[in-house]
Amino acid sequence: MQTSIATVSISGMLDAKLTAIANAGYAGAEVFENDLLSSHLSAREVGALMADLGLACTMFQPFRDLEGLPEPQRARAFDRLERKFDVMGDLGTDLLLVCSSCSPLASDDRARMMADLHEAATRAAARGLRISYEALAWGRHVNDHREAWGLVRDIDHPALGLVLDSFHSLARRIPSSSIGDIRPDKLFIVQVADAPLMDMDHLGWSRHFRCMPGQGELPLDDWADAIRRIGYQGYWSLEIFNDRFRAGSASGVAVDGYRSLRLLESGITRPALPPSPLPPRIAPRGVEFIEFAANPDEAGQLGAMLRPLGFCPTARHRSKAVTRWTQGAISIIINGEDEGLAHSFDMVHGASVCAIGLTVDAVEPVLERADTLHVARYSQAVAPDEWPIPSLRGVGGSLIYLVDRTTSAAMWAHEFPLPGEPAGPARLTAIDHIAQTMQPEEFLSWLLFYIALFDVTKTAQVDIADPMGLVQSQAIETRDHAVRITLNGSLANQSLSSRFIQAYFGAGVHHVAFACDDVFTVADSAIAAGIERLEIPRNYYDDIEARWGLDPALVERMAARDILYDRDGDAEYFQFYTRAFARRVFFEVVERRGYQGYGAVNAPIRLAAQARHKPAPEHLL
Ligand code: MG
Ligand code: MG
Repeated sequence: MQTSIATVSISGMLDAKLTAIANAGYAGAEVFENDLLSSHLSAREVGALMADLGLACTMFQPFRDLEGLPEPQRARAFDRLERKFDVMGDLGTDLLLVCSSCSPLASDDRARMMADLHEAATRAAARGLRISYEALAWGRHVNDHREAWGLVRDIDHPALGLVLDSFHSLARRIPSSSIGDIRPDKLFIVQVADAPLMDMDHLGWSRHFRCMPGQGELPLDDWADAIRRIGYQGYWSLEIFNDRFRAGSASGVAVDGYRSLRLLESGITRPALPPSPLPPRIAPRGVEFIEFAANPDEAGQLGAMLRPLGFCPTARHRSKAVTRWTQGAISIIINGEDEGLAHSFDMVHGASVCAIGLTVDAVEPVLERADTLHVARYSQAVAPDEWPIPSLRGVGGSLIYLVDRTTSAAMWAHEFPLPGEPAGPARLTAIDHIAQTMQPEEFLSWLLFYIALFDVTKTAQVDIADPMGLVQSQAIETRDHAVRITLNGSLANQSLSSRFIQAYFGAGVHHVAFACDDVFTVADSAIAAGIERLEIPRNYYDDIEARWGLDPALVERMAARDILYDRDGDAEYFQFYTRAFARRVFFEVVERRGYQGYGAVNAPIRLAAQARHKPAPEHLL
């Protein structure tokens, strides 16, 4: 795949954008006219910079309102066109994007449109240039790529071709099978964007909500397949208008875009057709461990929260101040080392989750795929006798360790040979989900990270009402639900999610949920052992009893234990929360009776309860 991105997609000044684009590994970039107009560099200097950076200028864009105009507007449009041709010479591109007219003056007379586009192509050809014509979803008379293709085909001028833009076609639900009619030599460039499905006007939707392939919900796999099937060999160029990306870092967005094109190339939601340019996507088998960084004081507090939940410190590390707390198959590592990543993590964030270990069938393909996607590996000094566990940089600078399923038992035995206390009865069965909170501008980036790297699917996005604002939440899950991670971001400064990020100095894990088969038994033993749980108001129980027609005795049992409830058809969900550890991270216990969600309906209750417990403004949760 030949990769390209429109400069409008990322933030900053044009020279900085181009540098970020080149560094991220793209072959080319489309220069967006407004970026050029606001640059201190001349078109010739921009062209020279792109040549120095090894970036092809894949297109100059956009040229608006050309075809179908009456005089004198028509003559003026053609004068404008000639001036754009001059700029293109300086930029070093031969391709100009002309989008279908939105002018109220434009005629719907097809013969006139054809004559104008033919004239434009003839003028372009005289200067060794080409024009690619794009049907805007909101074009006045041409708003469907089938009509645009009809014009290009019938005009049949060598300097006139078509742009296919995924947003314009898929927002209007035009079947991708129609792409099969297009001649590949006439498809001059392909522009790519994803978007969430929304019921709004095409222009506003396009200007503010476009996102990278994989981050939205458009059926891009079928669309890209149809384009590949006709034998298209040209550039795949991202064209993303999104306010959040323009608020993010240029290099971060450029890398995300590159990653998203690689993902599109190998299939976003289904395995790639061979030969795939990417190593296959692997589904993690489960969460092997969660590692907390904590100084000795914090380690004591954390242990005091884990004990009532049934965890025991069953083993110690061979040489480091690191303890393994276990219960059945669940492992929690508490890292109290005074050097290394965990220590610096604790220094920056306070006690918190510094790493997640994921169990995989094979490590090497994940690392290869990560390299191709420009996901950073992390390496720290490993003592000669230490078990090396490869890791990648994840949310908030934390790590994702990749643990080989076939050698995990040997790894534990080697690294944690020193026995601790005997294990207690296992009432918790697994890590059900991990919740991460991040800045809103990072949200789509981390979503893309997970879906590009692993064989996981994303749930629909939900908005959760926080007492202080709205939090958006979306989960990524393996198909067997062995690994579930929820991502949460808030646009409101004062929401608990935002305050988490401020107090925590960055994104991170804000709760870990454990699965069990009997939430009442777990709650009873946790309460007997002195757990500090999140208290739920009585009103909540009156409401659910009425809403679901629940047995009053069951509701009383839940109320006595602060257990929350949700239902989806016949499927039921029971959950309770601990108070926050170090006012930062908390635990949840869930029992799923066929239920596959996360109790989003209860999140406002939980957030309000946590807001009530909030001890001081500088603290949270
Ligand atoms: Mg476009
Ligand atoms: Mg949860």
